[in-house]
Amino acid sequence: MESRTSLLGKGIDPVPGQFVSSCTWNVDIIRAPWKRIDEPPCSLRSEEKKHVNVCCGVRCGGVGPIVRDLVVPRDRYNHRPMTTLANSSLDADGERIYSALSDTSLRPVIDRVMSGDRLTSDDGLQLFQTPDIWTVGSLANIVRRRLNGDVAWYNINRHLNYSNICALSCSFCSFQRKKDEEGAYEYSLEEVHEQVLEALDAGATEMHIVGGLHPWLPFQYYLDMLSLIRDTAPGLHIKAFTAVEIVHFSRIAGKGREGDEGIRWVIQALRDAGLGSLPGGGAEVFDDRVHAETHRTKISGDRWLDVHRIAHEEGLNTNATILYGHVETHADRIRHLQLLRQEQDRTLNDWALDNDVPLADSIDHEGRPHGAVVLSHPDVAIRRLQPTPETCSTGYYQTLIPLPFIPDDSKLEHLPGPMGLENLRTLSISRLMLDNFPHVKAFWIMQTLEMAQLMLQNGADDMDGTVVWYDITKVDGAGTHQEVTVRDLQRAAREAGFQPVERDTLYRPVQRDGRAWRID
Ligand code: SF4
Repeated sequence: MESRTSLLGKGIDPVPGQFVSSCTWNVDIIRAPWKRIDEPPCSLRSEEKKHVNVCCGVRCGGVGPIVRDLVVPRDRYNHRPMTTLANSSLDADGERIYSALSDTSLRPVIDRVMSGDRLTSDDGLQLFQTPDIWTVGSLANIVRRRLNGDVAWYNINRHLNYSNICALSCSFCSFQRKKDEEGAYEYSLEEVHEQVLEALDAGATEMHIVGGLHPWLPFQYYLDMLSLIRDTAPGLHIKAFTAVEIVHFSRIAGKGREGDEGIRWVIQALRDAGLGSLPGGGAEVFDDRVHAETHRTKISGDRWLDVHRIAHEEGLNTNATILYGHVETHADRIRHLQLLRQEQDRTLNDWALDNDVPLADSIDHEGRPHGAVVLSHPDVAIRRLQPTPETCSTGYYQTLIPLPFIPDDSKLEHLPGPMGLENLRTLSISRLMLDNFPHVKAFWIMQTLEMAQLMLQNGADDMDGTVVWYDITKVDGAGTHQEVTVRDLQRAAREAGFQPVERDTLYRPVQRDGRAWRID
């Protein structure tokens, strides 16, 4: 057990009288007391404990003093935001990171982040390997604040999973069923209509629609579904269909699975019926070995990127995911992020030329030089220029959503799946590598709302929305009803030290009056 003397020897000032007798704390290395703990560690959830353990150097077990500024008394719990880097200046944060650095080999990586130079794949790997996760998260927090200040975005949305019947059997998927299997379902258009009315009633701004690759539903079903939603709720943004669904539609519409033209035809038809943007699902990990081992029959990473490139060319914004924590390596994750970064560079090149955004020198994942768009540049004049649907003639990637693999009920159930710190680190590194993505999301449904709070402090700027029904994954045995209230989301953001701001799908602030809303 650490003694009070040894703590004082480290320049730490224990607070007289602040001992917690009911729980046993021990403080070993307090080198970065920038987070407060709102509850004794023994009452924190296991994931939070691990985070606290690393970030603040607090270890459960033994009896020890509580250190000043690490504890917020319970009677102030609901009134004070945590003191985090979110509340201080970016310059001060940079200095603090240098002074608190425990892994000095990270210094060149910090230099690059602070000067706005692009991180290399070696930098990304080093960030996965370093024991100094505090520095990783703090750097990501600086980048997230350059891009989004102290804003934590959320939206009021509805997820609609129209059918879980799927022709494929990806090994990490616990959602899909075969036609006559127990639990298989598909929505009629009447059922879709009911859900749209519910969304309208709740004041939702977005309908998020994905499903399995249904072997028998015709392409017309999907067009009718979009038209029905558009006609019922013209203001509701329809974000729908992952890249693998788009390729499936091309096949069932008789346009073939290969080449660009079928994909373009499908996207144009869906857009004309009401499609507003594409979600980011189905990217998994862009690697041939991973593809062969986990989702062999699904489209390749190259094909996924093709679909999103064509959607951008057709003026639709899209999003991207990485499903990590199964059979891939850290190097695979970094390459996945690099491929997305490279695609976004290409997508934003014309926008950068039209808007006088200077391009930085960079090399792609195969070592070839090219011009790079660094939206998170420390120069305020540069990063003030961000792509918007008004300034960008094509669509672009808006958000990266890191998704932890959840093994339950999948064919990979024997794998452990990632835990809290791995989730936090992957999100932070995603934020740092994707310097040309405006947003990184803490998807609370798969990360939990409590982890989403920590993620807001470690690189994320968005928490997704109210959701209500979600059938794809279920954390800890949750059912399909997975709903949080706006109040929950706002409270989570404020408690983490950020300002909650409601957005629409295109990240425009929403002015709300009850169920009514508008974009100014
Ligand atoms: S991940 Fe998608 S394509 Fe693969 S089995 Fe599940 S629903 Fe089907």
